[in-house]
Amino acid sequence: MMVPFIDLKAQYSKLKPQIDERIQNVLNHAQFIMGPEVEESEKALAEYVGCKHVITAGSGTDAAIVAMMAWGIGCEDEVITTGFSFIATVETICLVGAKPIMVDIDPKTYNIDINQIEKAITNKTKAIVPVSLYGQPANMDEINAIAKKHNLKVIEDAAQSFGANYKDKKSGNLSDCGVTSFFPAKPLGCYGDGGAIFTNNDDKAEACRQVRFHGQTGRYYHEKIGVNGRMDTLQCAIIIEKLKAFPEELAERQKLASHYSEVLAPLTDKGVTLPHVESDRTSAWAQYTLRVPNREQVQASLKDKGIPTAVHYPRTMAAQPAYSNKDFVPFGLPESEKASQEVMSLPMHPYMSDEDRDKITAAVLSCF
Ligand SMILES: *Cc1c(COP(=O)(O)O)cnc(C)c1O
Repeated sequence: MMVPFIDLKAQYSKLKPQIDERIQNVLNHAQFIMGPEVEESEKALAEYVGCKHVITAGSGTDAAIVAMMAWGIGCEDEVITTGFSFIATVETICLVGAKPIMVDIDPKTYNIDINQIEKAITNKTKAIVPVSLYGQPANMDEINAIAKKHNLKVIEDAAQSFGANYKDKKSGNLSDCGVTSFFPAKPLGCYGDGGAIFTNNDDKAEACRQVRFHGQTGRYYHEKIGVNGRMDTLQCAIIIEKLKAFPEELAERQKLASHYSEVLAPLTDKGVTLPHVESDRTSAWAQYTLRVPNREQVQASLKDKGIPTAVHYPRTMAAQPAYSNKDFVPFGLPESEKASQEVMSLPMHPYMSDEDRDKITAAVLSCF
């Protein structure tokens, strides 16, 4: 029997009465697009994140596209980001017509190396998109300071870090704008695709609302070029209930991550690197990711013992055929490439039994 990598069924069985009632309500009122649960979920999300405006979107990808369009990022513009993320980070920059400029990561946190950002700025640079990879926010104070100096916007890709803290603030609320994803496997997921934009800027929030809905400012009146980027009422209804359970789930993720790090600590003498979270922030633990020597062998051996693992990500974005344009990578990505060869994530979810947890740690220890 394989241990589950994530367990969405356990979560549903716990929240079933509330979620079923919410879904039934939507079926009854039948306002499937922009129904009342959309605004209700946006208010609840804004309260949790501590920002003024939340605009839900059809996915994390849509959220990023809508945000960049609302901030006027497009053709001729350059956007600096990291080379090591899920493909949507660079895909969305290309989709709005801008040019992604990928710089390397800090090998300790896997987040953008702040020492490379300024070197990559040109007179075409319009924005920086730091990714809060695996759930840990990037060095946002330093990034915001560079952006301020060069008059750039900062859009945090917080798809993996909903719920994480950076100093006294929550991920998503750390810069001009943050975008997140409610893909089912993310820390806060819905039961399909969903996402959200976070901002404190009144005008840009309104622009995001318009862009998300075909750029319309009145019925069949379109002031902007927009997209169909709305989150379904049903998904918003589900998020409302899942958000209520989220703080407790996040605490369980943190507990599991701490336990992994404690029990696996002896492996640091055997060439294994455990996750490093900076002292002024927390991780939402979208992934618990190790660096291991002989990754393929370790993965195969764990699989034999019933432990699934995953690689986030086996290639840098620049090594993907669709994005292999040399102009996208001004300085090379040696640390990103190294990470893509070495990282391996362990099962992580808030409903893991102690039995499964112990089976996983014992199996990992026995590999070294
Ligand atoms: C999941 C993810 C996205 C995209 O979110 P979707 O909801 O799947 O569109 C973007 N960036 C990162 C870093 C992600 O992990």
